[in-house]
Amino acid sequence: MAAEISAIARLRIGVDGEGVTTLVVFMSCPLRCRYCLNPQTLSMSFPHKSYCAAELYDEVKKDNLYFLATGGGVTFGGGEPLLRADFINEFRAVCGSGWKICLETSLNVDKELLQSVMPSVDSFIVDVKDMNPEIYSSYTGADNSKVLANLEYIAEAGRASSCLVRVPLIPGFNTEDDVEAGVAALKALGYDNFERLTYKIDPHGKRKGNL
Ligand code: SF4
Repeated sequence: MAAEISAIARLRIGVDGEGVTTLVVFMSCPLRCRYCLNPQTLSMSFPHKSYCAAELYDEVKKDNLYFLATGGGVTFGGGEPLLRADFINEFRAVCGSGWKICLETSLNVDKELLQSVMPSVDSFIVDVKDMNPEIYSSYTGADNSKVLANLEYIAEAGRASSCLVRVPLIPGFNTEDDVEAGVAALKALGYDNFERLTYKIDPHGKRKGNL
């Protein structure tokens, strides 16, 4: 099975998982966030390349020693990596158990996709946007009921401690009180590892990273 990949970024440290990581950016996402940082993943008209799992392994294995020495590995992002659950499971079978696999995900997918990758994935960076359904909908154009169900599923599976949950302050969409309400709701589910950040928006309304 092949997957469409927008970019592969090597030798990352401390930004998307433990140790040295290679970020693999998949095409396609179910959301349309107002301040999307990766809009090139949202349309197949942007450049991308097709890989099967073995081809991707051949590409990223050059950093094997870094991964093993630092407890790092491959982080799959996007776009939405859970749309490529089968590919991620194939990649795990090809790369073996020595590397860490992390997913950077919104969790806005059917639970079956999440369930299927649980044995292959070591950790998750969960981008919840905002826990409030109305704020979420106005920011992403989508409903967050699948996100909430998947957060519950991960917690019930005893994997909340393998998640870093991003709780952003999104200018024009939520407030610090909304962020703290989201953190409280997540704590009630069993999550306790949060990254608070503020989206940095330029005068033209484009996101330029985080504060
Ligand atoms: S989830 Fe990520 S890739 Fe998808 S629209 Fe939002 S910011 Fe963009």
